[in-house]
Amino acid sequence: MVKPFVPQLVYFEPRALEYPLGKQLKEKFEKMGLDIRETTSHNQVRDLPGDNDFQKYRNAKSTLVVGIRKTLKFDTSKPSAEYAIPFATGCMGHCHYCYLQTTMGSKPYIRTYVNTDEIFDAAEKYMQERMPETTRFEASCTSDIVGVDHLTHTLKQAIEFFGKSDHGLLRFVTKFAHVDHLLDAEHNGRTRFRFSINDDYVIKYFEPGTSRLNERIEAAVKVAEAGYPLGFIIAPIYLHEGWQEGYGEMLEKLEAALPAFAKKDVTFELIQHRFTKPAKRVIEKNYPMSKLELDESKRKYKWGKYGIGKYVYTDPEQEEMKDKLYGYVNRLFPNAKIEYFT
Ligand code: SF4
Repeated sequence: MVKPFVPQLVYFEPRALEYPLGKQLKEKFEKMGLDIRETTSHNQVRDLPGDNDFQKYRNAKSTLVVGIRKTLKFDTSKPSAEYAIPFATGCMGHCHYCYLQTTMGSKPYIRTYVNTDEIFDAAEKYMQERMPETTRFEASCTSDIVGVDHLTHTLKQAIEFFGKSDHGLLRFVTKFAHVDHLLDAEHNGRTRFRFSINDDYVIKYFEPGTSRLNERIEAAVKVAEAGYPLGFIIAPIYLHEGWQEGYGEMLEKLEAALPAFAKKDVTFELIQHRFTKPAKRVIEKNYPMSKLELDESKRKYKWGKYGIGKYVYTDPEQEEMKDKLYGYVNRLFPNAKIEYFT
């Protein structure tokens, strides 16, 4: 079982202490006896311990930086939401395929932002612009925020903020089962709580440092019982020997565990495994022993933004994946909505 994250090292930006949450976190981490240091900016933590890149990368993933979110311009977040809402960046998990490895480059440490009211004000403006349409915000584009939220409770604040909103909805996804502090949040049904799930093979070989499937399913049951709308992202769908049975068993376990009422309003998002050339280089450096199959010649090339294309499965493989997974979901969860396959 993966224990809730405790950073080995914490950095504070001095300005973070001007905010109530910054002060609270400092006191909390002092009481926990953590190693606390100061950094001028959350973008420039330079003196991380480690003799080489490999060690530095691992130490960074156990380092938490408490800072201020200066950019309050939100990125778009299609297809799952209109905007990405930024409460944290980075993740303590070690999923070999994780896209954060390339997007975070030399800064793989975890950042949490304490100016939450300013972030909520910015969200409010985005909602006003789109009124009377509803605006959806995705809180897990740059991190697995649940993984750090037992320490910060930022996500809990956000759930309650959107719980009171008339025009905004919140969604996020996690591979962590540490959800207990979120169960009594006043969500008013306006947050869709999603879990990222995968079959035993993928979790065993490619998702170290995250909660196991049975723990995620147990957490999903608690979340459903707390009245949250529930969702599951099956990602990355990865072809390996026995994948058909693996994904079938995963969905059967899920179906057996979820209470009947939770299956009435449940969503699924299906995302096949993909990689880019830069991602392949980073994965090979950070996880040199990984079994992850990254052979361009076996994949289909899909042109992408900024000239960086990605390697996805071939068309017949994609058809087979869709066929199998839509088949399982439709049979086991007849009332579920499959939002997309990509
Ligand atoms: Fe990346 Fe999610 Fe794994 Fe964290 S849990 S390393 S964000 S894929």
